[in-house]
Amino acid sequence: MTALPKSPRVLTLANQKGGVGKTTTAINLGTALAAIGETVLIIDVDPQGNASTGLGIDRQARSVSTAELLLNEATVMEAAIPTAVPRLSVAASTMDLLGLEQEISGSKDRAFRLREALKAHADLGDEIPEDKRFTYVLIDCPPSLNLLTINAMAAAHSILVPLQCEFFALEGLTQLIQTVNQVKGALNPDLSIHGIVMTMYDKRNNLSNQVVEDVREHMGDKVYETIIPRNVRVSEAPSYGKPALLYDLKCSGSQAYLKLASEIIQREKKLRHVAA
Ligand code: ADP
Ligand code: MG
Repeated sequence: MTALPKSPRVLTLANQKGGVGKTTTAINLGTALAAIGETVLIIDVDPQGNASTGLGIDRQARSVSTAELLLNEATVMEAAIPTAVPRLSVAASTMDLLGLEQEISGSKDRAFRLREALKAHADLGDEIPEDKRFTYVLIDCPPSLNLLTINAMAAAHSILVPLQCEFFALEGLTQLIQTVNQVKGALNPDLSIHGIVMTMYDKRNNLSNQVVEDVREHMGDKVYETIIPRNVRVSEAPSYGKPALLYDLKCSGSQAYLKLASEIIQREKKLRHVAA
């Protein structure tokens, strides 16, 4: 196994529960990072392709997709499609990802397909055009712990876990952490959990507060200070093929994602300081 290059930073958004805000966070955190000057690639490894659709990428525009990336039939350079957001590209997914697991499950490097693709891109060095010199890669996972998610975890420096402010928020987190530890032990020794982001927070609902308190009690400072509120503008934006930040920059959801992006960059700086 080859070591991960330091740049770009690769963050994988994982939670085997569906509907917790993985895709929404990938789209809007990616947009927010790009807005503050980072060059970002979102890799959509969910066959449902919601991140790709939410970023306005038509099905016809997906002739090269993450399936080809995982089959090593295309490079990151070929798969990265520019979006309406400056400095933000997306490697889109198609339903082809559904059959892919079986196709690669027999091969020895089945868990490292994405990691190798990203490594090959980084190895191009100065040959990479400026708009594809990514400083952050966000990988949006399907709602399961399958081979696609394992590929996403094996390719990452860190895992970012979106957790919905609901009664069963912590349920499933133990299993997710176990999987992260297994991947760390067997496939990716440098893997860590970057942080937990609480999503769809409703300040009028006591339960939301209770859940945030519970999760902070269990997970301590792994939980980001920034909490993403439930906001109707955030849920409307994908139907216009736009990130919330383009659809309505002033809404509370967009503002929260901008705050999350700065918090993540701060955390990254601290990590680098510690490592130096
Ligand atoms: P996942 O990718 O984990 O399945 P999604 O990001 O697709 O979850 O979110 C699930 C649903 O919740 C979507 O309909 C999305 O629009 C909505 N949603 C996510 N975050 C918010 C938010 N902050 N405010 C309102 N709706 C949200
Ligand atoms: Mg999703």
